[in-house]
Amino acid sequence: MCADQIPTIQSNQNEPNESPSPTTRFAPSPTGALHLGNARTFLINWALARQGGERIVFRIEDLDGPRVKPGADVQAIETMRWLGLDWDEEPLYQRQDLSRYQVAINRLYEKGLVYPCQCTRKDIEAAQSAPNAGDHEMRYPGICRDLEGGLKPELGDESDERVGALGGVAWRLRVPEGEISFIDELRGEVRVDVQKGVGDFVIATKLGLPAYQLAVVLDDAMQGVTHVVRGHDLLQSTGRQLWLYKFLELEPPTRYTHLPLIAGEDGRRLAKRHGDTRVDHYRQSGVRSERIIGLLAYWSGAIERRQEMSAVEFLEAFDLMKMSREEMVFGPRDHAWLMAGTL
Ligand code: GLU
Repeated sequence: MCADQIPTIQSNQNEPNESPSPTTRFAPSPTGALHLGNARTFLINWALARQGGERIVFRIEDLDGPRVKPGADVQAIETMRWLGLDWDEEPLYQRQDLSRYQVAINRLYEKGLVYPCQCTRKDIEAAQSAPNAGDHEMRYPGICRDLEGGLKPELGDESDERVGALGGVAWRLRVPEGEISFIDELRGEVRVDVQKGVGDFVIATKLGLPAYQLAVVLDDAMQGVTHVVRGHDLLQSTGRQLWLYKFLELEPPTRYTHLPLIAGEDGRRLAKRHGDTRVDHYRQSGVRSERIIGLLAYWSGAIERRQEMSAVEFLEAFDLMKMSREEMVFGPRDHAWLMAGTL
């Protein structure tokens, strides 16, 4: 496939000059069951979309993370439906077709914007996943930037024998110095200096797969996404993604909303260490979806006391501007309130 085919990756199916129709997306990674924090992000994303008449597209980020679990995609979809969420398009699976990423990498390569890198495995593997809070991201000091390699980037997948033959190199983007800025709906103008922060980041991994940062840009552009709603842990990643939009000459989303995270009582992002916070765990214990939505609504500032409500009632009550900019804490009282609903 040749690089000038990239114009197929464009926002919306509108005529030129027509502004793209407002579109947001659900983009779960099928790495495990949805927990309360993920559910809160999807619920708010859904409510903002339905309040603003945005189309909701769906994408399964099955390139995101070496920990993709079979069946987790179907389970996430089922849990989201059970909570009362809906969307307007069938899910797109990233792995189904890698050619659009290859086209983009070719284009970056031809512009001299990427280079092969043989540096540490750990550093490069980390690039496969969306960076989450608490992930320690080191700055890449540019060790391989000026080495002559004579290699060309070629994607495959883990089962592709050619991956070994390609020498298992990762590909990094030459990130310019200086800041890139965007408006976040909750925080106003955000300025990110990517070169000072993480340096030249990985866009294709040693496994021969596009890294999260590249995949998310291509797919948001291809699916015509104009509004990205996601956790605050991806705020810095938005800076990286904006460089890619620029270099690939793609239209970036016009709106970004990075939501404060849900933490455990130790202040760390909600995770397994805080007990079983999977939505399905509560569901299997007999908790009704309205009770879960009630807790998520309380965390989102839509109600002052925990009370059962449907997703539609949440949508009517939720006001992004009234939401706290601080992290919310999941504690024993939240758990007790959920479980009280099973009596
Ligand atoms: N798939 C990512 C996650 O579940 C989300 C990435 C994004 O919203 O850009 O953490």
